[in-house]
Amino acid sequence: MQTKNKSIQLLLTKYHEISLLDKIKAALEWDLNVNMPSKGVEGRSQQSTLLTELMTDLWLKPELKNTLLELQGTQLTEDEQAVVRNMYRLGKYYFRVPKKIILEKSEITTKAFVAWHEAKQKNDFKIFRPYLEKIVSLEREIASFLEYKDNPYDALLDLYEPDLNVKFLDSIFTPLRNELSQFIIKIKESKKYQDKSSFNGRYSPKMQQKLGAYILDLMQYSNAEGRLDTSPHPFTTTLDRFDVRITTKYLENDYRSSYASIIHEAGHALYELGVNPHYSYTPLEGGVSLGIHESQSRFWENQVGRNPLFLKFLFPIFKTLFHEDEMTYESLVHGLNEVKPGFIRIEADEVTYNLHIILRYEIERDIINNSIKVDDIPEYWRDKMQSLFGITPSTDAEGALQDIHWSGGSFGYFPTYSLGNLYAAQFTHTLKKELSFDDLLASGELGPIVEWLRKNIHTYGSLYYPHELVQRVTGEDLNSKYFVQYIKDKYSSLYQLK
Ligand code: MG
Repeated sequence: MQTKNKSIQLLLTKYHEISLLDKIKAALEWDLNVNMPSKGVEGRSQQSTLLTELMTDLWLKPELKNTLLELQGTQLTEDEQAVVRNMYRLGKYYFRVPKKIILEKSEITTKAFVAWHEAKQKNDFKIFRPYLEKIVSLEREIASFLEYKDNPYDALLDLYEPDLNVKFLDSIFTPLRNELSQFIIKIKESKKYQDKSSFNGRYSPKMQQKLGAYILDLMQYSNAEGRLDTSPHPFTTTLDRFDVRITTKYLENDYRSSYASIIHEAGHALYELGVNPHYSYTPLEGGVSLGIHESQSRFWENQVGRNPLFLKFLFPIFKTLFHEDEMTYESLVHGLNEVKPGFIRIEADEVTYNLHIILRYEIERDIINNSIKVDDIPEYWRDKMQSLFGITPSTDAEGALQDIHWSGGSFGYFPTYSLGNLYAAQFTHTLKKELSFDDLLASGELGPIVEWLRKNIHTYGSLYYPHELVQRVTGEDLNSKYFVQYIKDKYSSLYQLK
């Protein structure tokens, strides 16, 4: 970006260096997940740690913080204002939280990850408990160093989604919680709910990869700007404005995992690839928040990938690639849209998914506010599962120990998954007013959809905060009504509800 402001130029120079280091680190991490032989782990961890230290040092240069403070309240253009706002927000953690605490957190989370892994395997919460207690107390301390108005948990939420707070989340999650748990009861009472899909077929990874490549082509994700590899957990990573890579995982007995994750990760990648190139290596680069990022991946995965019209278009290709006699169009649609209240978040369907998040959100909110104890989490979890889903996990491995997030100290992260679903539904509502969405899906013509997203969302990168972006695109604040309507319309029809 262009600027005549000398202080902004200085900030851009500083950020450029930080961003380059960040991309180098991303390349190393991509390699670790995709290619690296196992014995390289030790050395790679040292290499990554050095880069993190170099980046931390750059953030902690007094010149950077002083320039940011001097610029507060001065006359700036829209782009310049966003540069200052973003850098201040990114730097805040380093400026305010003492280095001692940052290091303590990094040390304890490394150990906590190992303890969590063991606790999950042995189904014994006690192994993880002392680490989680330490992490929670550190998170409370970190919140006290960061700024918040009403609730200490707000300070942590803001690290993942700018300006997000408990008051707002309560206002959208409460109606969502009620609507969804009521609707699930209706689905469970339906006749169709008894039909269980079965996957006895074998789906060769090579054919799954061909299917993925075909869809990526429709989505205009090109080999010149990215690549598809395999890794234990699918992810997307940005190595440069013109190099955004994705991964997936192939299961031989079920095509759904790679199908959904390829489309999901490509949604993340298209967002990064669609940002205004003038923003590259500036604080306006990349997606603005985890929530908006997840809206792009969820949009492609669910609103497109699991849409019966799009599946009708793809059905002949499924048949040609997999040669499965038993596969019918109906079984394909049902297989990808089966509603099944279960214990595990990452296996959840579109209807139940947000309830998994609301459960975690309520526990995090209450634990950071000291109204429940770490010791009580497993029981709290079981009670909430029962009231939200009508089922109780018999083990903590299927309950409070299932996710990796708390072992890394990522308190405040979970809600962004649900925000992604809600943003996606609200964006789609607007998109449908401007494009013949159904016709485009039925004919597999995804180009105009990519273009619409690029023009209305992607190109802005991190210029607008999520609440501004949602206002600009949809004319209103984020709310849960479009998501609830979408779910009710789609699943009432799939489950033949009255
Ligand atoms: Mg994602």
